[in-house]
Amino acid sequence: MVKMVPYEAFACPCGAGDVLLRESYKPKIRGKLYYACPRSKDLQHLHAILQELQHLKAILRELQEMHNAQTASTSLIR
Ligand SMILES: [Zn+2]
Repeated sequence: MVKMVPYEAFACPCGAGDVLLRESYKPKIRGKLYYACPRSKDLQHLHAILQELQHLKAILRELQEMHNAQTASTSLIR
């Protein structure tokens, strides 16, 4: 029976395709897991990743504001 490394995949924000979790076979970093997109070395890929990060930051800020508002209203009730 062949033992497979469980591959985890999701679509890369750059739209080139799936980002795959791979296992490195280079002697120095053997067994190290890393994410690889078909366009990992492409500038457009980096740009898309940065945009996605900005998007996530905005969501975090929104959640933080919601949390703050909630905390404020609870303290008003007490
Ligand atoms: Zn990509």
